[in-house]
Amino acid sequence: MSSRPLDGRHRAIVRLGHPALRQRALEVPAERFGTRFLRDLGRDLVRTMFEDSGVGLAAPQIAVGVRAFAYYVPGEGDHDEVPPRVLVNPTLTLIGEPTELGWEGCLSVPGLRGMVPRHASILVEAATPDGAPLRFEATGFHARVIQHECDHLDGIMFVDRMREMRSLMFEEEWDQYVHDREQPVEA
Ligand SMILES: [Zn+2]
Repeated sequence: MSSRPLDGRHRAIVRLGHPALRQRALEVPAERFGTRFLRDLGRDLVRTMFEDSGVGLAAPQIAVGVRAFAYYVPGEGDHDEVPPRVLVNPTLTLIGEPTELGWEGCLSVPGLRGMVPRHASILVEAATPDGAPLRFEATGFHARVIQHECDHLDGIMFVDRMREMRSLMFEEEWDQYVHDREQPVEA
């Protein structure tokens, strides 16, 4: 997926049913910013996300119960590229109503996809693993990825957000039967 060499090491992704996915992850305390623990965690999340062909990966998905995740936005279709980055202790301000429906999958729910309503626009406040503050607005696909990842920090899975289960399907059937589609968020 990425041609750049990746630091860090690959970590095993836990699947739906693992208790780490259903717990609220803990805030990273100030003294842990800039530590080897947090830098390694960030690098490992990015590496594992790319190697498993996702666009996002939260620490609880590798059974680490802290509020951190990696994501990126590929520069395809109508969205601009956002290079891979790691957000720590994110807080979201949701703008408007969660009315935008889009396809999502999850590396912890392999093989399945479903339609999930999300907010089209959000304000994000977070920190980098070194403690630098981040504040930005995200829309569309970018906003969807971040909402999916932030949910992981609160023990919420995309299937919990589906308004009705009739769109739940396997990837192969999605490829075969769903047309006029945008690539799903797989995170
Ligand atoms: Zn996920």
